[in-house]
Amino acid sequence: MRNYGLSLLLATCAFAQADYDLLLKGGHVIDGKNHLSAVRDVAIKDGRIAAVAADIPASQAFKVVNVGGLYVTPGLVDIHVHVYAGTGERRSYAGDLSVYPDGFTFRNGVTSVADAGSSGWRNFEDFKDRVIDRSRTRVLAFINIVGAGMRGGKFEQNIEDMQAKPTAEMALKYKGLIVGVKSAHFAGPEWTPYEQAVEAGKIADIPVMIDYGAKRVERPLYDLLTRVLRPGDIYTHCYSGLRGEQDDTKGPSKAMIEGRKRGIIFDVGHGGGSFLWRVAVPLMQAGFTPDSISTDLHVGSMNAGMKDMLNVMDKFLAMGMSLDDVIVRSTWNPAREIKHEELGNLSVGAPADVAVLRVENGRFGFVDMYGARMDGTQKLICELTVRNGKVVYDLNGISRQRWDQLPPDYGRQGNARWDGYAGYPARRQQH
Ligand SMILES: [Zn+2]
Repeated sequence: MRNYGLSLLLATCAFAQADYDLLLKGGHVIDGKNHLSAVRDVAIKDGRIAAVAADIPASQAFKVVNVGGLYVTPGLVDIHVHVYAGTGERRSYAGDLSVYPDGFTFRNGVTSVADAGSSGWRNFEDFKDRVIDRSRTRVLAFINIVGAGMRGGKFEQNIEDMQAKPTAEMALKYKGLIVGVKSAHFAGPEWTPYEQAVEAGKIADIPVMIDYGAKRVERPLYDLLTRVLRPGDIYTHCYSGLRGEQDDTKGPSKAMIEGRKRGIIFDVGHGGGSFLWRVAVPLMQAGFTPDSISTDLHVGSMNAGMKDMLNVMDKFLAMGMSLDDVIVRSTWNPAREIKHEELGNLSVGAPADVAVLRVENGRFGFVDMYGARMDGTQKLICELTVRNGKVVYDLNGISRQRWDQLPPDYGRQGNARWDGYAGYPARRQQH
């Protein structure tokens, strides 16, 4: 009995002294910020990336997960979603048209999202209380230049409620959480929404994101991208083809080319009505790739052509973009665009938000906003997601032990040192 006690004590000490909480071993790491695409081990401690190296001994970690044959990437960053759910308002993105984030994010390797203007300065704090503060996903926000937010026509066409000053004040009050200013769905001929959004962006020192609304001859895309927006501002829905993105040869218009030269950022924002094969394919063939890949997730897109973040990424694989290029546009590029450079990379010290992805080869189809299909041979599957150093999604239980190798009366598995579900909600801790 004494020996047993001693060895148990030693074992406990060995665990206690393990350098790392969690070690993802043997995966192919893709980290655009650090120009890394190679097999590496990734070690995590206290919710942060602690080491990325060719061979980190398993003995140095409390928990080891073998991810050989899989891709290990920074947690995906989706900067165009609508997640202001739960208000009960019908036909409103500050309500029924939004979704709660956690049901869509971790199962796709997404660990950070930015809501794209569902709330404005009048209701941002309600959004924060209702969703941001209660989600396990990191939820950031573009604040709508419309004070009432994205609540439908009569609100979103009301120029009187588009005011730079209170918008910027709210953005400054929640600096870091509010990462930009959004304008969307405007149908009028005026420049006011865009000028006010840029003014708010200047005061708060954050970018603006533009959904350019209805196409109007009074405000050509060329003027928006070469005069009104600043370098670093984001043009989303870049493959919709609805507002002069293409020229007569179907390639990128002069507006797009000149905008890119000036440093305007081009974001996908697929959504339910903003991605067409007949626009994306010729633009991609002409070399006009997106700076960031995003979903525009909402109830109208979640079960249509868009589906989820990995499906949008798959579409770029299907168009011939390399996996490394797809990953950087889904991690490091969007993190930089929203000035959150601690995200979207696996540098030592960065928050340990990690996605473990598998590339499945087979016959797949990918559908655009009008229901046209492109065939593809590769599909990304999310195997494991780590948020703040804890496993929050594990599709095939690769972090788990087989049930028939556990004691016959086994209880709750996992440990709060690495497992996001041990102790969530309150549960008794075991190894
Ligand atoms: Zn949107």
